Amino acid sequence: MKKREIEAKVKKLLHVFADEFLGEGGKEIIDALYNKKNVNEFLIAQKTKLNINQVRNIFYKLESKNLVSSIRKKDRRKGKYGWYIYFWTLYEDKVLEELKKMKMRRIEVIDHEIKNRKEINFFECKNKCIVMREETALLHDFFCPECGELLMPMITDEEIKKLENEKNKISKEIEEIDKVLEFYKKIKKEEAEKKEKRKKAKKLKKKQKKIKRKKTKKKK
Ligand SMILES: [Zn+2]
Repeated sequence: MKKREIEAKVKKLLHVFADEFLGEGGKEIIDALYNKKNVNEFLIAQKTKLNINQVRNIFYKLESKNLVSSIRKKDRRKGKYGWYIYFWTLYEDKVLEELKKMKMRRIEVIDHEIKNRKEINFFECKNKCIVMREETALLHDFFCPECGELLMPMITDEEIKKLENEKNKISKEIEEIDKVLEFYKKIKKEEAEKKEKRKKAKKLKKKQKKIKRKKTKKKK
């Protein structure tokens, strides 16, 4: 996968997360933060056309899962004495990990539902008023308490199939997240290493200059 391709996939997954976890305005905030550091919350409000409280509410949500970090500075604007402005950084990789966790929880729920449907006999009214477990149906002598119609054993094969299909779909989504995450982390690592190299090169150059200067001084 190429870098641009991975970044597009990361962004797509971030949007999925925003839709499922952050709600309205979430996507816009993610976009405003993507690949940036310490973004001014007022700038985010301006960019996303949300008010500052909406922006902060979304940040509380993100903060509750440790998906952002913030620094604060005193507000120097007139009439804002004692107030602070927050600057936010998004951890894209952690968001993807959280999305994966959400998907895995969903799979757990589905597994539980499948197990229930396989193990428990449900009874259903012909008129679709009610669904109940066998024990409860027995208490009603297998008659619907709503309309008096006979309760029939419910055939759950189709439901189970539907649940299994959903589970397969989510499993594939998790695989995709894993793959994207792996590439994304690699990119970030490479970027950090390049940065470190540049820093070292700069230091070395400085050192060499210093030595040179000393030498020329000695010559004098
Ligand atoms: Zn009924």
